[in-house]
Amino acid sequence: MFRAGGNLSKSMMKTQRRFLNLQEFQSKEILEKHGCSVQKFVVASNRKEAEEKWMSFGDHEYVVKAQILAGGRGKGKFINGTKGIGGVYITKEKNAALEAIDEMIGKRLVTKQTTEEGVRVDKVMIAEGVDIKRETYLAVLMDRESNGPVVVASPDGGMDIEAVAEKTPDRIFKTPIDIQMGMTDGQALKIAKDLQFEGNLLGAAATEIKRLYDLFIAVDATQVEINPLVETADGRVFCVDAKMNFDDSASYRQKEIFAYETFEEHDPREVDAHQFNLNYIGMDGNIACLVNGAGLAMATMDLIKLHGGEPANFLDVGGAVTEDAVFNAVRIITSDPRVKCVLINIFGGIVNCATIANGVVNAVNKIGLKVPMVVRLEGTNVDAAKLIMKKSGLTILTANNLDEAAAKAVSSLPK
Ligand code: ADP
Ligand code: MG
Repeated sequence: MFRAGGNLSKSMMKTQRRFLNLQEFQSKEILEKHGCSVQKFVVASNRKEAEEKWMSFGDHEYVVKAQILAGGRGKGKFINGTKGIGGVYITKEKNAALEAIDEMIGKRLVTKQTTEEGVRVDKVMIAEGVDIKRETYLAVLMDRESNGPVVVASPDGGMDIEAVAEKTPDRIFKTPIDIQMGMTDGQALKIAKDLQFEGNLLGAAATEIKRLYDLFIAVDATQVEINPLVETADGRVFCVDAKMNFDDSASYRQKEIFAYETFEEHDPREVDAHQFNLNYIGMDGNIACLVNGAGLAMATMDLIKLHGGEPANFLDVGGAVTEDAVFNAVRIITSDPRVKCVLINIFGGIVNCATIANGVVNAVNKIGLKVPMVVRLEGTNVDAAKLIMKKSGLTILTANNLDEAAAKAVSSLPK
C-alpha cells in the first residue's frame, strides 16, 4: 500500500507481472482529465524551460517538486546538495523557485524509499501552493483479501503515514467496494467522515472520493494513492500528491496510459535484459545468479544467504530460452563490477540444458570471465550439457545439487 523499496518478494513478483508506474505529473494529468482537483502546475527539465512555461500563481506559493518514482521526497536529501533543499521546496519568491530547479536537476535524490545511491532528477514540477489546513490519506487498491477494490483512508495523512500504519493502525479505515455495484453515495460519505471532513466539506470530499474511485476503475489501475488529500484553509479539497500503478495485463485497452511509460528510471540492465525476454533484478550483493523460474530464484537466494553470501542480481531466462539469450544473460550479469562470482542454476524441464551450456561457453569464450563461475545443471539433456562444458576446457566449477552450488559460490569469493 505504501511506496516501499524493492525487497526480493516484490522484485520476484515483478518477474511475473509488471505494474506500470507513473511520475506524479503524469498521474496528475490523468486525475485532471477525470475531473479530480489538482493544483495548477507545469513540468520542466531545466530552468530555461521553467521560465518559458512559467505560470504566475498570484499570491500563492510556488512548490517545486522533484519528479522521481519513489516517495518520501519531502524528507529526502540530495547527494552533494548545497542548499539544504529536499525533493519538495516551497517558496513565495520566483527567483528562489528557479534556483531550487537548478539545485534539483541532475542531482541524485535519496529518500526512505530509494537506495543510498538515490535517483537522478531529470524533471521537476512547479505547482501552485495551496494553503493546507489538514492532510489526509486516501488510496484505492486491488485487495487480495476481499478479492476486489478497497479504499484505505486515514485522517492522519502526510509524510508520516508509515508511522501511522505502524503505531495507530486503528486510525486507518478500510472500505471494500463491490466492483459490480461501484461505490455508493453512502460509502463515499462514510469514507469522507472517516477522513474527518465536516460540514459543507463533507459533500465536496465525498464527490472527490467517488471520482477517484471511478478513475481507478476506468483506467485499470491497481493502485491510486493520494497522500496527502488535503483540506485547504479556504474550504477546498485537493489531491496534492498522486501515485498510480496500472495492471499491465490491461495495456491492450489502456493505450493512452501505457504510452506514458519511459523506462527512464529502470535499471539499464533491466531494460537491456527485457529486449531479450529476460527478467533482470538487481540486488546489493556480489554473486550473480542465472536461473530459470522465479521459484528457483527464491530457493537459490535462500541457499546463498544460508551459506553467508548475498546475490548481486538475478537473471531469469524463463522457459523458451535460446543460446543467444543465454549469451546475453551472461553478458548482462557479468557486466556488473560488483559481481565477484557467477552462479548458474538451471533445472531443465522445458529448458534444454545443452542450450544453456552452449550459450554459457560461447559467452565466456567471447567476453572472458574474470571471476569464478559455478554451474549446476539438472534435467533435460544434462549429460550432453556436462560434456559441452567439459570439452570447452574452461575453468568452470560444477556442482551436483543446489546446496553444493551455493556453498561453492560463496567459498569462491575473495576473502
Ligand atoms: P512526498 O510524498 O514524496 O514526500 P508530497 O508531494 O506528498 O511528496 O509532498 C510532501 C509535503 O509537501 C506534503 O505532505 C505537503 O505538506 C507539502 N506540499 C506538497 N505539495 C504542496 C502544494 N502544492 N501546496 C502546499 N504544500 C504542498
Ligand atoms: Mg506524498
